[in-house]
Formats: sequence, C-alpha cells, structure tokens
Amino acid sequence: MIGFLIDMDGVIYRGGQLIDGADRFIRRLRDDNIPFRFLTNNSRRTRRDVMMRLRTMGIDVEEDHVFTCAMATARFLAQAKPNGSAYVIGEGGLLTALHNNGYAVVDKDPDFVVVGEGRTFSAENLDKALNMILGGAKLVATNMDPNCPTQGGMRIGCGAIVALLEAASGQKAFSVGKPSPVMMRGARKTLGLDAARTVMIGDTMETDILGGVEIGYRTALVLTGSTKRADLPNYAYEPTWVFDSIADIDPLALEQTMRRAPLAPPEPSEPEPALMMSI
Ligand SMILES: [Mg+2]
Repeated sequence: MIGFLIDMDGVIYRGGQLIDGADRFIRRLRDDNIPFRFLTNNSRRTRRDVMMRLRTMGIDVEEDHVFTCAMATARFLAQAKPNGSAYVIGEGGLLTALHNNGYAVVDKDPDFVVVGEGRTFSAENLDKALNMILGGAKLVATNMDPNCPTQGGMRIGCGAIVALLEAASGQKAFSVGKPSPVMMRGARKTLGLDAARTVMIGDTMETDILGGVEIGYRTALVLTGSTKRADLPNYAYEPTWVFDSIADIDPLALEQTMRRAPLAPPEPSEPEPALMMSI
C-alpha cells in the first residue's frame, strides 16, 4: 500500500476553479482505500473550512483528510513547550489550531511570536511583535512562502511578513510549513505509512518537491500550477515523476513502479545513548 500527500493550490484547483479530473483522482483514492492527506501552507483556514471549500468544488473529503501548516505549527509548539503562550499575527485557522493544542493567545510577554498567512498585519502589531522578539520571544513562521496567487493577482505571503520581522529584529524565524520536515513528517505520520511508501504531489519546486526530496519521499510534480517543464533544469534536485496534471496519475501504476525500484534500505539506527557511553 502506498499513500499520497497532496498540495491543493495549483494541483486540485487554480484561481478557485477545479482542475479537470482532480475530483476523479480523489474519488479513485477513496474507492480503492488509498490513504491521502491534503497538505496546505495556507494557515488562514481551519481544516473544517478547507474541507467545506473542497466539497463546494465537488471533491468528496472529510476533515481528517486535511493537514494545514497551522496544525503542524501548533503541534510543534505544543511539543516544544506544552501549554505555552503566543502572540499571533494570523487568522482563524492558526488561532483555532493553537487553542486546540493547549496554547494561550496573548497580547503581552508571549513565549512565541507566531506569524501566519492573512490580512491582519499592521504597522502597530508588527511593532508590537518586534518588541516582543527583542524582549526574548521566539519567532515562528507557519511557512516562508513569499507570496500567494489570488484571483486578482498576487498577495503578500507569510514569508514576506516574517522577512520584515527578521530584518528588524536580527533574529531568524523557525518555519514549520512545507518544505520543513516538521510538516512533511507530521503529515505522513497521520497516514500511518513509512517514508518509502509515501508520494508527495505538488506544483511548486521550492516547497512540495524540495520538502519531499529532503525527507526521502517519492515526488510527483504536476504542471497545472507554478512550474513549467522548462523550469526544471534550474534546480539541483528533481521530482521522481512529472505529470501534466493530477488527472494523469495512476496510483496503481505508481505502486508497481515503486515495488520494482525500491528505495535504498534505511540507514541502521543509531545506538542508544546508554550503549554509546559504555563503549
Ligand atoms: Mg501549490
């Protein structure tokens, strides 16, 4: 059995329009009980919002099929510092995920300044965040995408807002969304599959494909979004497969190819620390 991590914008829809055949691909995964998750670097929406948006476009999915960078960020923070506090520049999806993971959203002395996608940034809250960072709060980004396509052109992405805070504070942000292994691994674990049986499908080399390559998944680039075939020689890494569209992917054919050409066996695990000391 293999499973899929699937980017949405440029793969399932573009400019609010469903990409032809994307609904049939998802239907096939569901009919054949092939596990999958939608992976998005947009932290504005909750997973329920994302589910509803996909359903409106005719894609039959449940909440459990959605994994957002807001969820990945909140889970990461809850592990790093349980029951901590955050000052948030972001929207509902991020606020909900933080609350669901035991975080308090505060206006003073936070453990973390967390920046996500959205329209809520202003000179006032950026100044506030800057002073918190200079006072010791850690800067965390849901993702570093510099901009996002919209129906009316591009809008400023989370990464651009974070770059502004990095420049002002002299501190580097930690980013959780694609291509970070924190998000790539977190999503794969919810599938219950190991890396050798996981395929990442996406349209963006810098996030979807790079994240998959770095963590050792097979990757399928689709050409319905931000990347053209002619762009590929500009990168030092490449996807395992290139498809014109997600509609052209045959899950069973991929599984057979993967079985014929297995990845190298995993490295032997490192010895336990106690054992190392006795040596
Ligand atoms: Mg995309």
